[in-house]
Amino acid sequence: MTNRIAIVTGAARGIGLATTKLFLEDNWRVAMVDRDEAELQKASDELPGTLPIYCDVSSPDMVQEMVAKVLSAFGRIDALINNAGVAIFKPLEKTDFDAWRTVMATNLDGVFLCTQAVIPALKESRGCVVNIGSISAVRASTLRVAYGTSKAAVVHLTKQLAVELGEYGVRVNCVSPGPVKTKLAEAVHSPEIIKAYYDAIPLNRSATELDIAETVVFLCSPKASYITGQMIAVDGGFASSGIGLPALRASKE
Ligand code: NDP
Repeated sequence: MTNRIAIVTGAARGIGLATTKLFLEDNWRVAMVDRDEAELQKASDELPGTLPIYCDVSSPDMVQEMVAKVLSAFGRIDALINNAGVAIFKPLEKTDFDAWRTVMATNLDGVFLCTQAVIPALKESRGCVVNIGSISAVRASTLRVAYGTSKAAVVHLTKQLAVELGEYGVRVNCVSPGPVKTKLAEAVHSPEIIKAYYDAIPLNRSATELDIAETVVFLCSPKASYITGQMIAVDGGFASSGIGLPALRASKE
């Protein structure tokens, strides 16, 4: 059978790298896209069946070139995983317009640009898109005026795209992780905040990159062939919990 082809953005590390590895285990081939060229090359060198492509997903020209390279190397595209993301956590007064635009450019514009560029190929393959949102899309919190808003927009964009592309057999879904220990998370969370998170997560731990990757690869499989326009939170129950969980745990009753 012809290998299916996935594009994974932000694939040099973290959730994107774990997703790449899981696709390979499932006999997909993967175009690994990232703006960290050195790390991307290193990661791809260790993973036969991958094609590293240096690309900033917020640049319309680079995105067009990236998709052309994938099609010239593999001839088809079956899945796009819009995973590349950046986080700037600041209060509103300290979020200047540059910071706002930096977050929107990758987290929202990047999803729009990459998806638009692969649509002809996905219509041909009746493929799918998985966007990586965040639990910050559904739970407002401090310091996330740009990040949380960008991710909420990604959840809505997922629905827009699913509605528009359904008639072509193209499915579009979103996976929203709770906290995962990656470079991105370590840059914005202190160890105290990370501990506070775990206290508020019913499953009492952070997600692993593999927890997220498993859901992404499932959504791209025939097992998910009737699922579109959905956001699945992979968050240990974080979005379902209200106040009082640490007190409940401490209680002996
Ligand atoms: P990492 O920082 O570990 O990996 C993200 C990769 O994407 C990095 O290599 C990064 O490069 C790259 N990247 C960033 N911007 C661009 C761009 N414009 N073009 C191409 N590549 C880019 O992050 P995670 O694995 O943690 O995050 C992956 C996704 O998961 C993100 O969308 C994030 O918002 C989301 N997420 C993560 C959570 C977490 O707790 N980790 C929780 C909820 C959601 P560079 O290092 O140069 O920035």
